[in-house]
Amino acid sequence: MDRRKFISGVALTSAGLAAGGAAQNESTSKQSKTVTEAVGPKKAVIISKNTGMQGSDGAYELLRRGHDTLDAVLWVLRAQEDDPNDDSVGLGGLPNEDGEVELDACVMHGPTRRGGSVGGVRNIKNVSAVARLVMERTNHVMLVGEGAQKFAVAHGFPKENLLTEHSRKTWLLWKETMSNQDSWGPGISDPNWKPPVPVPSGTPQALQQKIDHMYEVAADLGIAPEDRMKAISRVLNPPTGTIHCSVVNEKGEMSGGTTTSGLAWKLSGRVGDSPIIGAGCFTDQDVGSAGATGSGEENIKIAGAHTIVENLRKGMSPQEAGMDALRRIARNHNNDMNKLRFLEMVFYVLRKDGAYAGVSLWSHGPTGKPRNFHVNDGTKRLENCTALFQGSAIEWPPILQPATGK
Ligand code: ASP
Repeated sequence: MDRRKFISGVALTSAGLAAGGAAQNESTSKQSKTVTEAVGPKKAVIISKNTGMQGSDGAYELLRRGHDTLDAVLWVLRAQEDDPNDDSVGLGGLPNEDGEVELDACVMHGPTRRGGSVGGVRNIKNVSAVARLVMERTNHVMLVGEGAQKFAVAHGFPKENLLTEHSRKTWLLWKETMSNQDSWGPGISDPNWKPPVPVPSGTPQALQQKIDHMYEVAADLGIAPEDRMKAISRVLNPPTGTIHCSVVNEKGEMSGGTTTSGLAWKLSGRVGDSPIIGAGCFTDQDVGSAGATGSGEENIKIAGAHTIVENLRKGMSPQEAGMDALRRIARNHNNDMNKLRFLEMVFYVLRKDGAYAGVSLWSHGPTGKPRNFHVNDGTKRLENCTALFQGSAIEWPPILQPATGK
């Protein structure tokens, strides 16, 4: 190309870009006008997993003082990430099969229509804040593994050991007594999958013997007597955990976020739904915000949070929108209760006008308590979820407590 042609080409391209840029700015400002003109609820609303009660007051206070909705979301998530006693999130999260804590998180900011996410991060506690920085300080949406850790360290996050003594000993109990029940081999989605024989071999006596044996191993490992049955429960039924939080303020501005240590004893490198934008969390400023806790693999396959927000867009109520997503999970398993009883899912749904719902696959958790979720609209409380099925996913406690005096 000769010089003259090149220069005029550049000029044309720049003019085109300038015109395109102007058009784009116009549409962006129109868009943000729509966004700020959003009709909000009379009062700000926070919804989350029940553990969000812990950070609820602080988060609501931030909203009262006019902070961004994402600040409130992160306040709720951070309270759990910092809490060593929450063994499903951040510090103290139950590790993968190698004893390494690997964390996942994502956030979405409605007003700027942005999202950020991190997956499989080791040794960094506040991964939800790292996900926010991916959103705000990079040209990317998702960072994983070592790269995500390097990015967090570059932004001043300390590297720390996230495996608490409690979680290490529970992992050892799994290693010594149940690690033959792992995630290797075809899973529940395989057409030939058969439900496992009840632990350990089907008879109440055998089960009791197994629990008694685990109780002894737990004692040998130095697990405190009052913690032993909880640790055994964790080992027999690898727990899911996680916290999702969605927030809308009085202006109708919305944000959402989800953080987790994922499924206990997972394969190294396994990433669940929590950091997947559209599965673990999805926020659309025009419509609403949704998120999930539970069987991550199931949720990814139905893009749960996105499905729910799209259902809201079509005019469904928050409860209908969530129940439809749950029915998709059941449909993926041909409504086979022999499979569905091994799955768990809770969706948290918040519409832009403040209407909300918590819906669960099962009405009760494995400990027999009704599934519930946290709401704060100026009054902090727990509400029961609306469930697709009555009962609980996995029967716990399985038959008997160990004999006294052990
Ligand atoms: N959904 C999370 C995951 O699959 C776990 C959970 O919510 O408990 O990693």
